[in-house]
Amino acid sequence: MTVKKKDIRALTKDQLRDFFEIQGDKPFRGNQVYEWLWRKSAHSFEDMTNISKATRQMLEDNFVINHIEVDTIQRSTDGTVKNAVRLFDGLIVESVLIPTKTRTTACVSSQVGCSLDCTFCATARLKRMRNLNPDEIFDQVVAIDKESRLYYNRPLSNIVFMGMGEPLMNYNNVIKAIDKITSPEGLGMSPKRITLSTSGVPKMIKKLADDEVKFHLAVSLHSAIDEVRTSIMPFNKTFPLTDLKESLEYWYSKTKRKITYEYIVWQGINDTQKDIDALVKFCKAVPCKVNIIEYNPIDDSEFQQAPNEAINKYIYHLEKNRIVVNLRRSRGKDIDAACGQLANKS
Ligand code: SAH
Repeated sequence: MTVKKKDIRALTKDQLRDFFEIQGDKPFRGNQVYEWLWRKSAHSFEDMTNISKATRQMLEDNFVINHIEVDTIQRSTDGTVKNAVRLFDGLIVESVLIPTKTRTTACVSSQVGCSLDCTFCATARLKRMRNLNPDEIFDQVVAIDKESRLYYNRPLSNIVFMGMGEPLMNYNNVIKAIDKITSPEGLGMSPKRITLSTSGVPKMIKKLADDEVKFHLAVSLHSAIDEVRTSIMPFNKTFPLTDLKESLEYWYSKTKRKITYEYIVWQGINDTQKDIDALVKFCKAVPCKVNIIEYNPIDDSEFQQAPNEAINKYIYHLEKNRIVVNLRRSRGKDIDAACGQLANKS
């Protein structure tokens, strides 16, 4: 019988130190291996050149390093790059590199498929197959950082959790990944450059606040009227707007960090004055800004973005109420890399 070897990156630093101690080696060896695994993102024991050959063999006999493999890379005419990455069990997720004049942003996935059921999103049609492990999220960032250096001669500057999946439905692994991304023992990126985007799971938003996370929070709102929101984001029935609002008030009271609302304006769905008034009212609860994002059509969907006139009306009323609003253009549409289009057509 073959014994399935454990993924070494599931071990904490202390567990690695203990492992070496039990082997009769110095616990310090654990620190060295840990550094290879995270700060140097090694994908094989062979790479660990300051570790003796015998020790590397011993590690090889006991563990595997599960890691992602960039399967295909697509480049958009606007410079956006989309990676389809293969996980150790053959499943595929997507991540995106979005360059602008001043920054390069990685948009990473947190689940294979998605737990939620937003009717306008391509990923939702895949259903959730499994959560990503912390190392699988970490590896996406490392891969995008490499591509940023290769194609744009600069390191990655920002990360958004806006790829496939609902990050707050994979809470522990996402937090562990961000820990490795921000820790000096990992990639050492500032948490201020990370934004987690959620459809709004109130209990988990409160948990983020209690856990004193240092990154930014974005909420995909799309409507501030319960019936409308439930019709396009059915889970809103379970997590209605009053609960969401309460959790956001809690978040702000603890973190003092503004919230970003993502909002798409669709024709015939949320394009009336009543919708605008509800949003303005919702925005008064907690300091925030609104990003109006372009709708990216997905196959056979009946949704249509509202005309500019309706969007301008939103902007006018938000600004009149001194709410910061940005109009966000989509990137990477020609390669299905834009928000809501990630569904691994390959
Ligand atoms: N589950 C998380 C993160 C993934 S979705 C969340 O809901 O925030 C990332 C963003 O893309 C969300 O704001 C989502 O509402 C938006 N989105 C989904 N489908 C889209 C589409 N077809 N066009 C434009 N944006 C879309």
